Amino acid sequence: MSLLQLRDVAVTYRTASGEVPAVRGVSLDLAAGQALGVAGESGSGKSTLAMALLRLLPRDARVTGEILLDGEDVLTMKWGRLRAVRWASASVVFQGAQHALNPVRRIEDQIAEPLLVHGLATPAAARRKVGELLEQVGLPAWRARGYPHELSGGQRQRVMIAMALACSPRLIIADEPTTALDVMIQAQVLALIRSLIAEHGISLIMISHDLSVLAAMCDRLAVMYAGRVVESGPAHEVSRDARHPYGRALAEAFPTVGDPASRLAPRGLGGDPPDPRNLPAGCSFHPRCPVSLPMCATREVELWPVGGGRTEEGLPASHAAACVHVLPEGARAEGPDVPVAHSTEGVA
Ligand code: ADP
Ligand code: MG
Repeated sequence: MSLLQLRDVAVTYRTASGEVPAVRGVSLDLAAGQALGVAGESGSGKSTLAMALLRLLPRDARVTGEILLDGEDVLTMKWGRLRAVRWASASVVFQGAQHALNPVRRIEDQIAEPLLVHGLATPAAARRKVGELLEQVGLPAWRARGYPHELSGGQRQRVMIAMALACSPRLIIADEPTTALDVMIQAQVLALIRSLIAEHGISLIMISHDLSVLAAMCDRLAVMYAGRVVESGPAHEVSRDARHPYGRALAEAFPTVGDPASRLAPRGLGGDPPDPRNLPAGCSFHPRCPVSLPMCATREVELWPVGGGRTEEGLPASHAAACVHVLPEGARAEGPDVPVAHSTEGVA
């Protein structure tokens, strides 16, 4: 069974200036031990989706759909159960997380805290465990006695990874874990994450705007645009043979891991992603799309298998893209009001 199943997950922020539909109808599966990459430009809803997984969103966010962790819906869990799940089953490493470390507390105390709070270790055992964790992330155990300001950005990010590993989670959600680091350090931290998840059989959801980073780290990729998954599939296939024009643009923008030039100015992507409060009608990508057709201004196509069928659960098999160009002729010819590609039979 899948470790994590998302079914039609939507997140809307209610703000003074109106509703912000940040995530719209996302369905994804993550098998145990698998690494899933979520790609997309800034504002595409990646962090919102990541935070929804453990209900870490602010109160003004309304979440609908199902988020099944081991078959249990995170969205309807009682508070006590949710807290247990947050520590025992899943951990999050956030973007710029190294700044979340408390500057006036010893590293040791910060890593040991969840172990002690949840009664998972005695103080002596927790201290030993902290030493082991630091060594696992490539830092000497004596660093435990020090303070965050004594460490470089890359070392602080290693401490954050040690914290994420402390309670032996089955899933780690890493939101742009290396974006703030320089290229060399980025490569080292990515290699570290990759070896740790393989060694411990941990599932990973890794979020980045950089498709090349994800392609190097993940088994599967999901590309988000304006709150939707517009393409998903095996990582090598999506990165080499993207079938959604946006997936293709992202792949071209980030050809090699950590390429400093493409990090500064993504190639091949003109214009800006839309404001979710004011989404274009039809396919949200059509105003920027180099191959848009007139019907794209009125048609929003659901994920459609690229040369394949659907799984038993009714989800697009393996590689899928939400673009009129992947629809078979017959489906493309249907009227603009019919969501032709949306086959929900069997979707739980
Ligand atoms: P990403 O991580 O892909 O950059 P986010 O999930 O941070 O995207 O943001 C998705 C959209 O939701 C953006 O338009 C952003 O402005 C909006 N958003 C994020 N957080 C909030 C919030 N707390 N209140 C209102 N809008 C928000
Ligand atoms: Mg983000």
